[in-house]
Amino acid sequence: MAKVRTQLVSWEDVVEWSRGLAEKVRASGYMPDVVIAVARGGYVPARLICDFLMINNLVSIQSQHWTEAAKAEERAIIKFPYEVDLSGMKALLVDDIVDTGESLLLAKDFIMRKWKPTDVKIAVLQWISSAAKFKPEYYHLEVREWVWFQYPWTRLEDTYQFFKKMLSEEAKYGKNEWTFEELVKSFMEWYEIDVGDKYFRDAVNSLVRDGFLEEEKGKYKLKL
Ligand code: ADP
Repeated sequence: MAKVRTQLVSWEDVVEWSRGLAEKVRASGYMPDVVIAVARGGYVPARLICDFLMINNLVSIQSQHWTEAAKAEERAIIKFPYEVDLSGMKALLVDDIVDTGESLLLAKDFIMRKWKPTDVKIAVLQWISSAAKFKPEYYHLEVREWVWFQYPWTRLEDTYQFFKKMLSEEAKYGKNEWTFEELVKSFMEWYEIDVGDKYFRDAVNSLVRDGFLEEEKGKYKLKL
């Protein structure tokens, strides 16, 4: 049984889900003039939606969570609040997933006020209905039980973070030395996903570079 609920998403899944999402937009009769990708997770789906719906106009907005002092409060912010003129245009705001949906709501509000399109509708690959504050106009899959989707565009980032969490936990129980094979074996027990040898190596090498792990004669130890 995995210790963290995780699901591996392949590049093929992403293409098929984007195709399905584009079909829903088309079937609804909504014809966007411009696609807006929510950075960073919406980039790949947004580009694919442009392809499936044959839309040439693609812009982006970065909305992300900002941890305020002492982590007392977390709120979403627009990272680069530049303005573009979308007056007279119908927009489709595309992201990978609506989890709480807070950052997407903020992006939509900013776009309506500052970019002034005639309409904005939201399209996502996945909608976590049990966690989300709202239901997007278009989604490909409804997710009822929360899980972390390991998308291909965050494979290294996620593997790196997952290793960090796992190693810190194992260290609490007295373990402080691993071979590469042991690291991979533990990872697969913890998360029940296999990201492949190259990503495992990239992540472990990054942890060494960042001073979290040290390596000597094929053994890895926690440094911090
Ligand atoms: P929040 O506003 O709480 O950060 P969002 O629903 O706006 O939640 O998600 C922000 C981004 O974080 C998403 O676009 C996605 O890239 C990533 N993310 C959030 N939840 C998940 C999840 N369950 N699995 C994978 N990625 C996620």
